[in-house]
Amino acid sequence: MQIVWFRKDLRIHDNPALTLACQNGPVTAVYFVTPLQWQQHDVAPIQIDFIEKSINQLAYSLATLGIELIVETVDLFDDIPDALATLCKKLNASQVFANSEVEVDEINRDIKVQQQGIDLQIFQADCILNPGQVLTQQGTMFKVFTPFKINWLKQVQALDLSPYCKPAAQNAASEIIIPTAFTIDRPKKDSAYWLASEDAAQTHLVDFLDQFVEYYHLKRDFPAKQATSMLSPYLALGLISTKQCLHALLLRFPDALDNAKNGVSTWVNELVWREFYRHIMVLNPNLGKGDNYNKLGNQIQWQNDPKLFKAWCEGKTGYPLVDAAMQQLIQTGWMHNRLRMVCASFLTKHLLIDWRWGERFFKQHLIDGDLASNNGGWQWAASTGCDAQPYFRIFNPIIQSQKFDPNGQFISIYNQALAHLSDKQIHFPVNPIVEHKVARLTALQLFSVLKKG
Ligand SMILES: Cc1cc2nc3c(=O)[nH]c(=O)nc-3n(C[C@H](O)[C@H](O)[C@H](O)COP(=O)(O)OP(=O)(O)OC[C@H]3O[C@@H](n4cnc5c(N)ncnc54)[C@H](O)[C@@H]3O)c2cc1C
Repeated sequence: MQIVWFRKDLRIHDNPALTLACQNGPVTAVYFVTPLQWQQHDVAPIQIDFIEKSINQLAYSLATLGIELIVETVDLFDDIPDALATLCKKLNASQVFANSEVEVDEINRDIKVQQQGIDLQIFQADCILNPGQVLTQQGTMFKVFTPFKINWLKQVQALDLSPYCKPAAQNAASEIIIPTAFTIDRPKKDSAYWLASEDAAQTHLVDFLDQFVEYYHLKRDFPAKQATSMLSPYLALGLISTKQCLHALLLRFPDALDNAKNGVSTWVNELVWREFYRHIMVLNPNLGKGDNYNKLGNQIQWQNDPKLFKAWCEGKTGYPLVDAAMQQLIQTGWMHNRLRMVCASFLTKHLLIDWRWGERFFKQHLIDGDLASNNGGWQWAASTGCDAQPYFRIFNPIIQSQKFDPNGQFISIYNQALAHLSDKQIHFPVNPIVEHKVARLTALQLFSVLKKG
């Protein structure tokens, strides 16, 4: 008997741990709910709801393969080695199969499991190329995205990207035992907008590839348009893999890896950003503990005014686009990428609040909360990250609004009181908590400590 331990890979397709374990003989699956750990990691109630629905769906999918999913609750990652050892003993299991994760606490948890004497086999399925596999000629991690991407594309062009097949059913003749639904006893927020299943993730992908990807480069920055894949909640919990995404893209667009200036290549570019941040996270594990990537960032004198932070969190800065974006986050658990950049820039550079405060607030509300992408995005905006926004580049929230929400269509969805304003008027602040021009000059001074970098 082998155990397959599911983590952020809640799928039966393209799941090497599952497929390879099944090739070795009978399998039982396990998922550990870790409420206290999730609290420490600021997992959002909407993501917990999505996890609950996803594991119930996974339990059903596994049942169709004749595999039981045991869902166990322990408080912390630290409790898992003992729980897993007990389970191995009970099931007389010789090996545990799992797919890799990139976060420092998760990596340390796996080391502790192995130190417990459990034969834990880890497979790479989170990235298309493993962290540490895309390096400079000197064998170091790239510090700039573009050469990383060029190297990544070159390596991926030579790969067979066929996803792992789902395993054959273990006992084809027997009836499917429908598993009892599992409930996670934590505060949750309804995630029903995103159907929690692998099929739903595939539908998002197919719809996006059929209708939107070719125009992605033209429309992806406009939050009122439906133009991006909305796959991030599925990728964050592994209901779909990036390899499945890229494989499906290449079947339709065989030139997708050509690094052209079109929608298809622009979308590939975003998948590579995801990988870039994951590679950085694994090679710099302390980023997951709040370290600045650029150590000069330690010298930034954050002002951290709690009143300004509260106004930002509540979408009450007075800047219509920032406030509408924060409402999108609070109400739906998701925020458009352009707006994540605008809000993160506003918090760090207009309000002079530490990026870690914003990173945490995002994580507490996002359905797609993901340490590597969130940290990468925040440190990019705060200019402390790897290949980040230059420190002197400060988004003007009014110009961002005029450019990317020209008719105020997005703003009007989240602030109906402004909907009557003309396309010209709607972008301007009403009782702003800071004046853009003043804030910009202060930020330039405060962030100038990054100049030496
Ligand atoms: C401050 C900030 C915080 C962020 N926090 C998160 C987070 O917690 N979780 C998360 O998944 N993404 C995060 N992002 C990245 C990005 O905003 C989202 O991945 C994207 O908006 C998801 O929408 P989509 O699935 O429609 O993306 P698409 O545009 O369709 O892109 C496809 C996929 O590529 C990946 N991707 C796209 N853009 C980025 C990017 N800039 N960095 C890393 N991966 C990217 C995502 O997995 C995304 O699902 C953050 C960005 C910023 C600026």
